[in-house]
Amino acid sequence: MKRHFVSVVSGLTILIAMFITFGLGATPAKATTTYQVATDSTFPPFEFANSHNKYVGIDIDLLHAIAKDQGFKVNIKPTSFNSAVQSVQSGQADGVIAGMSITKEREATFDFSKPYFMSGVVMAAKPNGKITKLSQLRGKRVAVKTGTSGAQYAQSIHKKYGFRIVTFDESNDMYQDVLTGNSAACFEDSPVMKYAVRQGTKLKIYTKPTLNGPYGFAVKKGHNKKLLRMFNNGLADLKSNGEYARITRHYLGAKGSSDTTSDRTFLGLLKQNKGALLNGFEQTVWLTVVAIFFATLFGVIVGLLGVVPNKFFNGLSTTLIYIFRGLPLLVLALFIYTGIPSLTGSKIPAFVAGTITLMFNEGAYIAAFVKGGINAVDDGQMEAARSLGLPFGKSMRRIILPQGIRIMIPSFINQFIITLKDTSILSIIGIIELTQTGKIIIARNLEGFKVWTIIAIIYLIVITLLTWLSNWVERRIRL
Ligand code: GLN
Repeated sequence: MKRHFVSVVSGLTILIAMFITFGLGATPAKATTTYQVATDSTFPPFEFANSHNKYVGIDIDLLHAIAKDQGFKVNIKPTSFNSAVQSVQSGQADGVIAGMSITKEREATFDFSKPYFMSGVVMAAKPNGKITKLSQLRGKRVAVKTGTSGAQYAQSIHKKYGFRIVTFDESNDMYQDVLTGNSAACFEDSPVMKYAVRQGTKLKIYTKPTLNGPYGFAVKKGHNKKLLRMFNNGLADLKSNGEYARITRHYLGAKGSSDTTSDRTFLGLLKQNKGALLNGFEQTVWLTVVAIFFATLFGVIVGLLGVVPNKFFNGLSTTLIYIFRGLPLLVLALFIYTGIPSLTGSKIPAFVAGTITLMFNEGAYIAAFVKGGINAVDDGQMEAARSLGLPFGKSMRRIILPQGIRIMIPSFINQFIITLKDTSILSIIGIIELTQTGKIIIARNLEGFKVWTIIAIIYLIVITLLTWLSNWVERRIRL
């Protein structure tokens, strides 16, 4: 018994130490400043993962070249455009480079660099010629991307042309919606749409680009002045030494950066993306393990508070369960990742924010069944133990808990599997776990069906392993 206890405690200590190291490891080193720069996960040719799953593109290459020129370091954080913009607002990132148009509205909350690329919004639709101008959109659905100037443009004209707007987080999902015929057209930035068409997306551009402002690098208004200055100085240097022209030519020139030659079979895709899938898989497993650990800890404590003979603790337990079980996981994740830092002003690494989210959410469910499991043990057991003179704590430990735990085991296994699946929701805050990895790969090769099949199979494999492990543990506990 004692040995057991010692090994459990040392296991916990190691995990906590790893967690803390991980959390601290994510904060930038002080020597040369490393800036966290958020970007759109899929906005080729400005930012996208290449076939080696390295982030490249005009924005990314420019930023790296500017950082080198000016002697600072950058850590690129790809998420959806909308999250990228918000993570700068909340102070989670120092700057954003994401083909972001310099607009009047945004200038109220952001400081922009000098413009570095001209762009405008175009309408694209299927090439069958059914929808060729805005006036044919009446009564139809139009796909736009959340938080973009394209979306804003759609909003400004949808009454006039009588169409409905549907929003997506990723450019690729927006294209897919038009390709499948759910939406009649989409609004996208002209250079990006042109690039997608050239890469084989079966859409056609039908309108001239509207003037929606050039692209700029942005920081939160009044913050990171030095970074902005360095960006502008670096940009000027790259323009005069020919590097700017070289980078843009590389992506926009005849050759561009293309992934059309690669093997598109299941095995081909698996082989090509082995590294990325493996990284995503590791993140998912790691996140699950850490989350399960903390959620169990939180859940058991809160659950026990619900059964001790103390009204205050009982109320506390009920309230915590009520709050964290009641909040959708997505809302909780966004609240912790973008809401709290904008209040406190200090960054929370995505992994830590993700773990905290899962700890509260999954922990609340655990607390509920821990409470339920203990309550399910016949009242007579406690009465008998107490009448034999055992104090409450001892009766709980020796008599009630062993029986209660047996009742809880299936719920625990269930909750662990749910936790694993719920990690996928955390792709929203930019953790590159399995689901986010899938999105990034698809953004590059547009093989939605095959890549999601691969991802689904990997999840099923992990879930099977987790179930086996849980059943094995269950058998040992039951002995
Ligand atoms: N240029 C558009 C904007 O600033 C779209 C940017 C993007 O989708 N990454 O809103």
